[in-house]
Amino acid sequence: MACPDCGLLHALPDMSVGEKVACSRCGASLYTKHAYGLHATAALSSAALILLAVATMFPLLIFELEGREQPGGILSSAEALWNVGYPILAVLVFFTVLAAPLLKILATLYVVLPLLAGRPAPATARVFRLLDHLRPWAMVEVFLLGLIVAYVKLSDIATVEIGPSLFALVGLMVTMTWAEAVLDPLDVWDRLSPQIRAGGMTGAAPERLVRCHACAQLTESGHGPCPRCGAALHRRKPDSFHRTASLAVAAAILYVPANLLPIMTVVYFGSGEPDTILSGVETLIAAGMLPIALLVFFASIAVPVLKLAGLGYLLLSVRRRSTVRLKERTRLYRLIEGIGRWSMVDIFMISLLTALVQLGAIATVQAELGAVAFAMVVVVTMQASHAFDPRLMWDAAIRRES
Ligand SMILES: [Zn+2]
Ligand SMILES: [Zn+2]
Repeated sequence: MACPDCGLLHALPDMSVGEKVACSRCGASLYTKHAYGLHATAALSSAALILLAVATMFPLLIFELEGREQPGGILSSAEALWNVGYPILAVLVFFTVLAAPLLKILATLYVVLPLLAGRPAPATARVFRLLDHLRPWAMVEVFLLGLIVAYVKLSDIATVEIGPSLFALVGLMVTMTWAEAVLDPLDVWDRLSPQIRAGGMTGAAPERLVRCHACAQLTESGHGPCPRCGAALHRRKPDSFHRTASLAVAAAILYVPANLLPIMTVVYFGSGEPDTILSGVETLIAAGMLPIALLVFFASIAVPVLKLAGLGYLLLSVRRRSTVRLKERTRLYRLIEGIGRWSMVDIFMISLLTALVQLGAIATVQAELGAVAFAMVVVVTMQASHAFDPRLMWDAAIRRES
């Protein structure tokens, strides 16, 4: 097997349950064999499906002011953004909080349940590969954090009650995270069709072996579909350097309007001014909510900048064929890849506020254009870090040394 992050070849031992194997060069996790991985994933995903239904059906929060009540949930958050003229944000919220998690749960069950019965469902390989693409877009846990921010902001001006669906949403987050943690995708691929042993390839030069990005099968040709799972093969992510660079530049440009334009306006008893991301943080500090202010500052301002600066540094190190701190740079890449989605906190907070605070002249919250620019920053930086191939750093270092 080749390491997904640095490309080093390993011969995996026969593993017993509970064992983990990590890359000896960069530390990336290669394979984990969980005791009841498939059973646990099936049970947890079934629970998640029920919890998702409950989380969608009832309100998450209920906003009370001057004797009036306004409930808000997942669907009404997306609907409110649609109604105030921001269909892009509405679709983004609907997709990341409802559609992507639902598809993820259904696809997992479709793959795992028949596999447990010993008879894989048709097109299992295709559905399981689709799961790989869905994974970063299911953002239940980020939505929950956005909800906490919205709750703290609102409890400052009015009474906010917790709706029945909130408990289901917490349960949904736990079951989905857990279901993913106990399943190693390679375990599923092994059950579907065992890895074709590399015995016949020992004659091939290591740099000519290609790792399938979906099922980790090694092949010598590197052309056409993977013989094991059917994914399109490529030695490294295609055109990784230029795609990452152009997406990062696009995100950096979008970052300017995202911070200069207001993201929302809170009107409270007839008065209120549009807030940018930064002035929103200042308002939170002024109201004495320092932890939430720090959280919003970190997620909305620091993370995008650090991500873009980090990607720029990694790209530069590839260009310079740098041989230093390869392990740390690979770790930095894993951090950048993992942290990006958390920037959606502000967007989710705005969607909930827009749904909850629609009390005409007493209090309203209106989303503003800056929120669209900011959502684009988050999506484009996620694409940029996904396009980067950390193995380029190792390739460049090896080329320099040889
Ligand atoms: Zn490695
Ligand atoms: Zn494959």
